[in-house]
Amino acid sequence: MLQGATDGTEGGLIEGRMWIAGEWVSASQGRATPVLDPSDGRVLGHAPHASPEDVKRAVDAAREAFDRGPWPRWKPKDRAQVLRRAAQLLTERAEVLAQLESRNAGKPIRQATFFDLALAPEHLSYFGDLAARPQRRRVAQPDLEGSEGTIVREPVGVCVGIAPWNLPLLMAVWKVGPALAAGNTVILKPSVLTPFTSLELARILDEAGLPKGTFQVVTGPGADVGNLLVADPRVDLVSFTGSTSVGREVLARSAGTIKRTLLELGGKSANLILPDADLERATDGAIFGIFLHAGQLCESGSRLLVPARQRDRVIQLLLEKTHRLRVGLPRSFATDVGPLISEEQRKRVEDYIHSGVADGAKLLAGGQRPDTPELRRGFYLRPTIFADVTPSMRIAREEVFGPVLSILTYESVDEAVEIANGTEYGLAAAVWSENVSKARRVADRLRAGTVWINSYHLLSCHAPRGGFKQSGIGRELGPEALDEFSEVKHVFRDPDGRWASTAYPLLFEEADGPPPTSTGNQPAPGPKDG
Ligand code: NAD
Repeated sequence: MLQGATDGTEGGLIEGRMWIAGEWVSASQGRATPVLDPSDGRVLGHAPHASPEDVKRAVDAAREAFDRGPWPRWKPKDRAQVLRRAAQLLTERAEVLAQLESRNAGKPIRQATFFDLALAPEHLSYFGDLAARPQRRRVAQPDLEGSEGTIVREPVGVCVGIAPWNLPLLMAVWKVGPALAAGNTVILKPSVLTPFTSLELARILDEAGLPKGTFQVVTGPGADVGNLLVADPRVDLVSFTGSTSVGREVLARSAGTIKRTLLELGGKSANLILPDADLERATDGAIFGIFLHAGQLCESGSRLLVPARQRDRVIQLLLEKTHRLRVGLPRSFATDVGPLISEEQRKRVEDYIHSGVADGAKLLAGGQRPDTPELRRGFYLRPTIFADVTPSMRIAREEVFGPVLSILTYESVDEAVEIANGTEYGLAAAVWSENVSKARRVADRLRAGTVWINSYHLLSCHAPRGGFKQSGIGRELGPEALDEFSEVKHVFRDPDGRWASTAYPLLFEEADGPPPTSTGNQPAPGPKDG
């Protein structure tokens, strides 16, 4: 049973509250948004619809906590301790949180347990390790010999994290973890569809000893709550994960106040089977790449590139394996594929399926809703496979974000690479081959932030993750994540005044010392030498 922010109340509904300035609050205008269970379309609970006044309070609190609060001034090791303690609490509550994530996001419990709730604590703990890293380092300045340079990593300020619905808690950790590790204060806005585990994260961070006001969670629709946060001049950084179309709006709006803007956006990832691949392994990877979480992962391998002469064998293997997938209730450990997040999302995916048929692709599997009585009320779609897809079709170019695989064929590896790189996206890709050096050479040619060789969806918190092209700006995870949430300051000292007096003749004609060279500092000797 969860406590506080997401307590079950009347009729077993979850009534969420926001976490602002160290208090649990309802929306000041009393509005709340119903949150549905995608497995049956029923109301699971409500989350506050923040008013402009609530958003302002959240920014006030985060600003105050940054400008005058303790967190940015704490020693790195003390910040690290809070994040590690929070990671431990996440581990202790993993089972309950996995159930909540599964119900709210329609994620099969197996995936919520062994992916989301396994990675979230591990990654938060890693961000704790990053927090403990030294904030200062000396830099060699041989061009200004004898001078002293120190590079200081400082927090950016008030950071806003805007998260999508597909991996609600994990995405929250990827934003909140490095932002706090770097000493920032944070406002998180989860998706209006999946607010509950983010509220529990606030509870956990509070229990772990995070000073009040350092972290807030505001809930409500992106179009008003998200907009207000992005436009607020007192916010210094926005980290947004979501669709490329909303990412464009966020970037345009944040430009008004020149905010640092990190974007983790959509994808149309290519899963490339080379002619020498082990087809059993490659087709396992293709199924895993597209149907995990019903294809609702930004990096889902939605385009399968197959050598033309292996097309029939690959299709045969894919169909056998797809027919074995169990579409079912997220709460069952036997379920492989759960529902989509909403009726709206299902209709969007069905629209893509219709476009595939209309464009002349061959529908080999799926394409319909399951007719099992227990699934009839939920937002389910059967795993869908299209063959004979060409690069110009919508299902080959646009992000479907559902369980739809497009198979394209190629004649040469050059052609395969051209097709793989031929979209506006560049989030991820995979290469399947029994020849490691050949696979590496192809991986080097793929324009994507992550390239897997003979695997899919694997990630390490020690390595950066993000998009090329219109899949994003910036990186999450790895030490790079800390850099994204840090300002870098150069402190320069000229111990004996040598370089200052060498430079002064640039302005003061009568200053001592020889005139500087064209570069201003090399190889002019200091006054004592000259
Ligand atoms: P979305 O773009 O609709 O919404 C994402 C978030 O932005 C939500 O919290 C939403 O409320 C908010 N939002 C909506 N309009 C806004 C606005 N005008 N200003 C500010 N915030 C606004 O995306 P979604 O449907 O929640 O998630 C699916 C998308 O997320 C897919 O495109 C997927 O590829 C992408 N995604 C990317 C990554 C990645 O790491 N690159 C990871 C997960 C999901």
